[in-house]
Amino acid sequence: MKAIEEIPLVDTHEHLQSEEDRIKGPCDPIALFLSHYLSTDFLVAGMEPEDLEKLRNPRVSLEEKWDAFARFWDLCKNTGYGRVLKIALRDLYGESEITLESIKRITSKMKELHKPGFYRHVIKERANIEVCIVDVGRLDVDRELFAPVIRFDDYINLRSIDDLRRIEERSRMSIHSLEDLVKALKASFERAKNLIVGIKTGLAYRRPLFYEKTSFNEAEKAFNRIRGGQGGVLAFDEVKPLQDFLMHKLLSLAESYGLPVQIHTGLQEGTWNKLTNSDPSLLINLFQEYRGVCFDVFHAGYPYSRELGALAKQFPNVYVDLCWMHAISPEAAKRILSEWLDLLPSNKILAFGGDYIFVEGTYGHSRIARENVTMVLSEKVDSGALDIEEAVSIAHRILKENAENLFLKKRPCTSPTLYA
Ligand SMILES: [Zn+2]
Repeated sequence: MKAIEEIPLVDTHEHLQSEEDRIKGPCDPIALFLSHYLSTDFLVAGMEPEDLEKLRNPRVSLEEKWDAFARFWDLCKNTGYGRVLKIALRDLYGESEITLESIKRITSKMKELHKPGFYRHVIKERANIEVCIVDVGRLDVDRELFAPVIRFDDYINLRSIDDLRRIEERSRMSIHSLEDLVKALKASFERAKNLIVGIKTGLAYRRPLFYEKTSFNEAEKAFNRIRGGQGGVLAFDEVKPLQDFLMHKLLSLAESYGLPVQIHTGLQEGTWNKLTNSDPSLLINLFQEYRGVCFDVFHAGYPYSRELGALAKQFPNVYVDLCWMHAISPEAAKRILSEWLDLLPSNKILAFGGDYIFVEGTYGHSRIARENVTMVLSEKVDSGALDIEEAVSIAHRILKENAENLFLKKRPCTSPTLYA
């Protein structure tokens, strides 16, 4: 379906380093490609962390890195992350294989490409992405390419007096009481609200996603222990009432300002973390309570994708997002999308977010996402479930319009204009 190829994507999620940082940084393709994802494949394949650090070190020569890289690339090139990279190197650098010689050629081509306009070229001209919603910890982004979300996770993930001091710095306020802390959160929110398109939370990397409704008093007890500074880093059980209380505060703010909330669920990048912390079913009480918040639930909740689909079928305020997913496993992403299209109204699905730090990953991932959407919709046309016109209109929604409505036009999830 050529029509799908021509859809300018609204990419729901990226972590791209700034073009300026990329251009002035060292030109080391191996270090760059192992900045995330593929590096985790290398680690779970058995690479020692010290050896990975060597590969990431731009001061170590390519010749010194090559044997270790080649051995683990051979083990990992079959994964989704491997495929993203292969596609990017084929299309952007004209290389069909990764060899010592091709990496040398890629290095010189990369040096040529490293000039202002590189991102525009890859994002707009090659990937045909209209705008990327970015989670990069800063708001001074190139607004022609990017629209930022912001995290307030540091306000919630409090465990020690040092954590609280960092909040004092961020909010430029002294915080002596839980009331002060809530005021500081509100003030930071106020400063950011006109510059952002949503809120992001990645706390499933740190704690379970179950945030109980706790009273001010319970939260205050935990706050006072942290403020007293005697306890060092407090145990999670001790700080949980405070963290839970603050997440509820954050969602109340998001609700009153009409900002959508992106939540990390499912697979965690890196090794040794606790997957069950990020089960999207743990969020049910928040979905029930904050009906005016549009929840953009990330990464297809993988491997809890079936549960996530069922949640979106019950909650009008829950949207399912395949960001990162076509890179995690192209085949799993395809099956999940196919199942979701049978299960959910088509305004509930966000089909692409690149989730890369380096722009070549965004490009490679976008190619797999387009292919997957095309294959899934073609199957549905072939089986007679959809006609071509319906399939193309669904592709537009899931690749562009739904994200545009949620983040760029800020149409609240309860508003009928969402369907306009
Ligand atoms: Zn991410």
